[in-house]
Amino acid sequence: MIGVTVLGSTGSIGVSTLDVISRHPGRYRAVALTANRDVDGLIRQCRVFGPDYAAMADSRSAQDLKQRVEAENLPVKVLSGNQGLEEVAALPEVDQVMAAIVGAAGLPPALAGVRAGKRILLANKEALVVSGRLFMEEADRHGARILPIDSEHNAVFQCMPADFGRGLEAVGVRRILLTASGGPFRETPLEMLHEVTPAQACSHPNWEMGRKISVDSATMMNKGLEVIEACGLFHTDPERVEVVLHPQSVIHSMVEYTDGSVLAQLGNPDMRTPIAHAMAWPERMESGVDSLDLFQTARLDFEPPDLQRFPCLALAYRAIEAGGSAPAILNAANEVAVEAFLDKRLRFTSIPRVIEETMSKLPPRHDYTLQALFAADAEARGLAERITARLV
Ligand code: NAD
Ligand code: MG
Repeated sequence: MIGVTVLGSTGSIGVSTLDVISRHPGRYRAVALTANRDVDGLIRQCRVFGPDYAAMADSRSAQDLKQRVEAENLPVKVLSGNQGLEEVAALPEVDQVMAAIVGAAGLPPALAGVRAGKRILLANKEALVVSGRLFMEEADRHGARILPIDSEHNAVFQCMPADFGRGLEAVGVRRILLTASGGPFRETPLEMLHEVTPAQACSHPNWEMGRKISVDSATMMNKGLEVIEACGLFHTDPERVEVVLHPQSVIHSMVEYTDGSVLAQLGNPDMRTPIAHAMAWPERMESGVDSLDLFQTARLDFEPPDLQRFPCLALAYRAIEAGGSAPAILNAANEVAVEAFLDKRLRFTSIPRVIEETMSKLPPRHDYTLQALFAADAEARGLAERITARLV
């Protein structure tokens, strides 16, 4: 049996992961599940999946869960706080860690899994954006295999030669083509963007996702974070990563080779495909996803992204070029701004303003220790909160 810890099991990716696990009861077992505050969701999952451990980041929620677990006589050990999350990511009986917490909060437990040499199923792109080369170096040092869950990076991984770790030039790869749907506001008149609501931003045309990543898709910061993620995962620089708007989300990304060949991975927009791929790799297994109906799809469109409409994408490129702690600062300011937008304290069009001002005021430092990156993250959050309070 392959033991799996699902970090963020009550979220969109977590639920899809448990769906895939439930299709292969003889092969995978959920050893540990975790959430932040969703006690109802986590206890329901404990009843169905019978994990040995359940951990909650929020300590009061962990206390509630513990009482309910005891009242129901469930054989689950309840852990609490960051320490609890890190502990379940590194258990000896665990082979794979699904990193599906949202935001930089997911970095410490994901890194604990890396340092324990686990196979990391990486959905939590913010963890890699914040820690960049540190994350990849630790994976090398501890023999942890990172398999991308983000649909674009999973597609790229599937189109890459096995030895891409030697460097893209060495293996004949010219470019990575990251596709992007353009989100719900791809065609909204620019002058209407300052009026859009969280509900509109969260209704993505092709994917059903958590609220934070849905807003990131609407601003296209999601694609900016993904460019940074691609540079980390595939050991390359942003010049080799091109963003292509592709509204149908059928091609999940492409790899172009020096001979002019372009390999693409296609499929229905359902995260169970990359999840099943990464869990079973190098084998294949059933994911529950329907066959792609090409006749129904009929056409595939492509266009270049409009940086005036999507200033967050330009800010992400600026952060990669600046290097050091700049991606961590970008990410922290974005998390603050998105939360404020979701709480209706900030306009949609002010999200890039908060990030831009935070980045301008905090010069990046080139210290790649976890401590320095977390210090940059904390400083950027404080500043972004103050800027947010001033704007609307
Ligand atoms: P979500 O909001 O649906 O779920 C987040 C999960 O993390 C929940 O279980 C929540 O309890 C937990 N969590 C939230 N804050 C936490 C904290 N501070 N500490 C510990 N746990 C916390 O999010 P999602 O859409 O499933 O996305 C998860 C990650 O996967 C994100 O990084 C996102 O960018 C990435 N991702 C998601 C999709 C998708 O289709 N949903 C696709 C690609 C990548
Ligand atoms: Mg993606």
